[in-house]
Amino acid sequence: MALDPPTMLTITVALAAAAALYLAVEWRSVRERSLLYWSAGFATITVGSTLALLRMSGHLLVGIWFANGLLVLAHTFFLLGVARFTEARLSRRWWLIAVVWSALLLLPDGPQWSKLMLMANSLLVALLSLRASYLLRPHGKSLSVGAVQLRYVLLVHGAFYLAKAMTAVAPGALIDLAAFRGEIIQISLVEGAMAVMLIALSMTGSERYRREKRIARLAARDPLTALYNRRALEVRAPRLLEDVSLTRPGALLLIDIDNFKLINDLFGHVAGDRLLVTLSEMIRSALPEGALAARLGGDEFVILLSDVRQERVEALGATLRDQFHQSTSQTFNTPAPVTLSIGANLFDQPPASLAALIEQGDAALYDSKRGGRDSIRLVDRTQSVGEQALSR
Ligand code: GH3
Ligand code: MG
Repeated sequence: MALDPPTMLTITVALAAAAALYLAVEWRSVRERSLLYWSAGFATITVGSTLALLRMSGHLLVGIWFANGLLVLAHTFFLLGVARFTEARLSRRWWLIAVVWSALLLLPDGPQWSKLMLMANSLLVALLSLRASYLLRPHGKSLSVGAVQLRYVLLVHGAFYLAKAMTAVAPGALIDLAAFRGEIIQISLVEGAMAVMLIALSMTGSERYRREKRIARLAARDPLTALYNRRALEVRAPRLLEDVSLTRPGALLLIDIDNFKLINDLFGHVAGDRLLVTLSEMIRSALPEGALAARLGGDEFVILLSDVRQERVEALGATLRDQFHQSTSQTFNTPAPVTLSIGANLFDQPPASLAALIEQGDAALYDSKRGGRDSIRLVDRTQSVGEQALSR
């Protein structure tokens, strides 16, 4: 098949139109503004490439100047989309691009015209693509696979246009924009069709990946406290539990609010909700690195610790109980104190399952409740305790 300019342009028009449509449909369900900018970018390429076909019939103003101007506009849309995606702010200096482009209109006709036009056009496209690629550099937050792809596709695309700007001034380079002649133009048309496809794919990938992450995050969290829910704990606990050994014991703390119903009954469900959030914040800020915390349901919370000693577990329990009691006694006047009961166990062998571990914690928690509440019951199941018992 001959890859003549009209064929390449027609392929580009079809690919860009499909990309614009696809991103617009994605936007309808996701409502992410970046998708809309990117869709607008591809729609602009569709129009620009269609107009570019007109230069063969001698419509030079529309077929060259306007078509190339739209190419710059399309890359501006891409940059705006990336800025939106990365939540970056773009400087107003980018408006200068429109001024530079308008100034090109004043260029006199002549043999050098094509070269200058191609160079200016390529530099602007390169600038916009490289800036978009730079915005996608990793800074702090880790980038999704799609965003990394997009970053490199834009980098290569920008580098290509930079090289194209250089070759435009190379002596002896045949560039005839009006007749679509010259190797540089032929290669650009192939690159253009490929870039449309790769940029569109990585753009949809970026948003999709981010959305999947968001959905996974929502599914793993308790909606009220934003702590992990039971399901998320079940997924994450095995890694922590596998690490448990004689030298690195683990611990589970099962926490239940005492007389929580009083808060709901006397102060309303909203006050009860607020107290659950307060407790979750206390847990979060007292949590050592590498530990896991979750809300199992109702007023019951769990903490899983690794590489921990008995004193550390008791200290953590005491801190939470003190803070919580201080907070509730200052905020609520209740006939019975609203405090914390904690059932804990220390172990140096990976347990059969998380459920078995929680069951043991439940037994300790029950003891704590039966013993008058507002206390911690810790069952030490480590071997050192067994050995001490045997030697007695
Ligand atoms: P105990 O001292 O024996 O622990 O009794 P309690 O009053 O704390 O009540 P219990 O732990 O047996 O039951 C927890 C209550 O928490 C039952 C339910 O009405 C209430 N509850 C469960 N989920 C929520 C919630 O999301 N928000 C609020 N405000 N209340 C909840
Ligand atoms: Mg309770």
